[in-house]
Amino acid sequence: MKDFSRLCIHTMTNKPWSLRQCVENYSNAGIKGISIWRNVLEGRDLKEAKKLLDDSPLEVVSLVRGGFFPSVEKKRRLNAIEDNLRAISQASILGAPLLVLVCGSDSNQSLDKSREQIREGILKILPYAMSAGVKLAIEPLHPMYSADRSAVNTLAQANKMTEEINSEFVGVAVDVYHLWWDAGLHDDIMRCGQNRKLFAFHVCDWNVLTGDFLNDRGLMGDGCINIPEIRSWVEEAGFKGFNEVEIFSEKYWKIDQFEYLEKIKNAYINFT
Ligand code: ZN
Repeated sequence: MKDFSRLCIHTMTNKPWSLRQCVENYSNAGIKGISIWRNVLEGRDLKEAKKLLDDSPLEVVSLVRGGFFPSVEKKRRLNAIEDNLRAISQASILGAPLLVLVCGSDSNQSLDKSREQIREGILKILPYAMSAGVKLAIEPLHPMYSADRSAVNTLAQANKMTEEINSEFVGVAVDVYHLWWDAGLHDDIMRCGQNRKLFAFHVCDWNVLTGDFLNDRGLMGDGCINIPEIRSWVEEAGFKGFNEVEIFSEKYWKIDQFEYLEKIKNAYINFT
């Protein structure tokens, strides 16, 4: 039977809300998990944020996001490392067990070169992540983002990278929005499940007439992704974590967020 015991929401889904509003309103709505985007932490005392979370019934599922490692400029690569170390520190203070990586890409060099720099970047931050007890999830992004947001575009590529890095602290985040089209998805989900590297599962939907490739994601049921099927694969692969609702949507950010939260809960029960 479906219930809300494994429902997690990303704060970015309710972008108009502050961290405090997300925590209070998710708690009141019976939601169990929260993934925190770093924008809601800006200007906040992290210890206070931690107390806010500790005083709530919510489980912190992940911090989003680190990554953006590649650049043709060395200085920018070094800045990225520093920013990722900061993100790991934030995750550790908040008690988030996982940092999600949007790996980055620089169109002034080949995708292979960007992937090499992603691998190097992860290896550089890995010792600190291990000492902080924060795992790292490589999130493959849809190929439409390969020029600027991620040179890791399939789960096969992410699996290969985690297998090469070979650390129990580095795994993958499967997001249906980025991967639903891939004929190899079932087998690649089984592969990372067997390797115990399936760290996170993100859901939303692909609007068939997408108006904007960044901020027009659909609510589950709005589009064409067979989310229950992909969820069944993820569970078949041994995943027992949260189903994380992560929706960037100018359309939904404009409506009443309480009404939206009810829509999310409905969509979760009926289309996830
Ligand atoms: Zn995602």
